[in-house]
Amino acid sequence: MIETIQSDVMVCGGGPAGIGAAVAAARLGRQVTLVERHPMLGGMGTAALVNNFCPAHFDRERFIIGGIFAELRDRLISRKALYAIRPTDTVHPRMEPYDPDVFAEEALAFCRDAGVDVLLERRVANADFQPALACAVTFDDGTQRKADVVVDATGDAEIAAAAGVPCLFGEDGTQAVMPLSLCYLMGPIDLDVAQREFPESVSYDPNLDEHYFYYTGANPRVLAWVADARRLGELSIPVKGIAAIMSLPGRPWIAMVNFGRVDIQDPTDPRLLADATDAGRRQVEEGIRFFRKHMPGMDRVELVQLAHRIGVRESRRIVGRYTLTGGDVRAGRQFDDCIAQCCYAIDVHHNGRDTTLLEPFMRGRHFDIPWRSLVPIAGPPNLVVAGRSIGAEREAMSSFRVSPSCMAIGQAAGAGAALALQSGGVIGDVDYDDLRRVLLDQGAIIA
Ligand SMILES: Cc1cc2nc3c(=O)[nH]c(=O)nc-3n(C[C@H](O)[C@H](O)[C@H](O)COP(=O)(O)OP(=O)(O)OC[C@H]3O[C@@H](n4cnc5c(N)ncnc54)[C@H](O)[C@@H]3O)c2cc1C
Repeated sequence: MIETIQSDVMVCGGGPAGIGAAVAAARLGRQVTLVERHPMLGGMGTAALVNNFCPAHFDRERFIIGGIFAELRDRLISRKALYAIRPTDTVHPRMEPYDPDVFAEEALAFCRDAGVDVLLERRVANADFQPALACAVTFDDGTQRKADVVVDATGDAEIAAAAGVPCLFGEDGTQAVMPLSLCYLMGPIDLDVAQREFPESVSYDPNLDEHYFYYTGANPRVLAWVADARRLGELSIPVKGIAAIMSLPGRPWIAMVNFGRVDIQDPTDPRLLADATDAGRRQVEEGIRFFRKHMPGMDRVELVQLAHRIGVRESRRIVGRYTLTGGDVRAGRQFDDCIAQCCYAIDVHHNGRDTTLLEPFMRGRHFDIPWRSLVPIAGPPNLVVAGRSIGAEREAMSSFRVSPSCMAIGQAAGAGAALALQSGGVIGDVDYDDLRRVLLDQGAIIA
């Protein structure tokens, strides 16, 4: 059934990229529909419980991502739902844990304030791009809406791939993708004990006036506990350390945990994803037993909430008009058609091994993301891609895939989609100078 509503811009996927795209296009006066298959917005950050901002936006001297991301971040800070980067974070870039429920609530209000028509619990089942530069989008309940321009913010380039846009998958040659992680919330953590016996893992947030658990990286004590547990057969998770344990702002005795690693061949295959989730659940049980035995202040922790969805780091990437390379990232390359900046590390979790390639950025440095990487090299002219599946080599993707940069990329995709409507909906005809002006007006930080 075709609903009477016709959208100027249809954004498929309500993760960080989709939120950025929808708000940007709506603020330019366009009628925007945002479709998300989950009951909440936020993508991996909420559904997969990876609820923190990796420091892609702070180069340890200044903030390099503004715009819609900064506005949403400010809303979380004013709700006391985010542990913000501290002025002293000039040596080790710090992540910013947030409350995933408040994020979902604020993201929805933010989109609605901008006039976006948000459809939750609806999956885009098909997008039929017609020659007359329109698209009939069919949802899984059989309803259909038409749109002039489509933003693919599915994370998997699902719409683009189905519409014939050339795509790459994982590693060149093997097509291997980074492993998945099933994240969860656990508690209660005794913060007094943790502070006494493992003081480096407890931080203080002046905005919330509370102490909280913050662990990430490679503390030698923790690495030794993990190595021992693996040797004794108590841990089968193929990883040397714990990626993250971070308290929820406002409820610091409960923490999100990223301590899992499940290999998969194709995370867009629902059967393989279900098997991987099953394996992830067993890792959660092992993880909790490990924390109870070893981690100070955690001897009574229980599972509080399992993520709705296992976390997917990598799948398809489109072939765009420009392929952002690992070399561009390492060189901190600047582009004449920059639409966003990023300073997060190259962070490739190895498939089939227990190692991770991590190359942090030097303080004060970043790289640019060019507009051409969002524009498919072929396929429907009224389609633009946002988020982790833009045109890039996987090493480059391993850096900008984090949520602040995905939201900034989304903002550019949404603004570009709105501007394209001035010239019949052709994304490739968007004038970069116009796009740049609009992004700067919307508070984006681009050199
Ligand atoms: C285990 C793990 C840990 C991570 N840790 C961090 C971290 O600490 N900090 C950080 O900043 N980033 C982290 N990331 C990366 C980051 O969360 C994601 O890469 C980022 O969310 C990507 O944004 P996106 O909008 O491109 O895609 P996603 O967040 O994947 O959002 C895509 C959205 O599209 C929806 N969708 C897909 N197909 C359809 C369809 N057909 N119809 C309707 N909706 C659809 C999905 O449900 C989803 O909500 C992590 C990722 C993983 C997997």
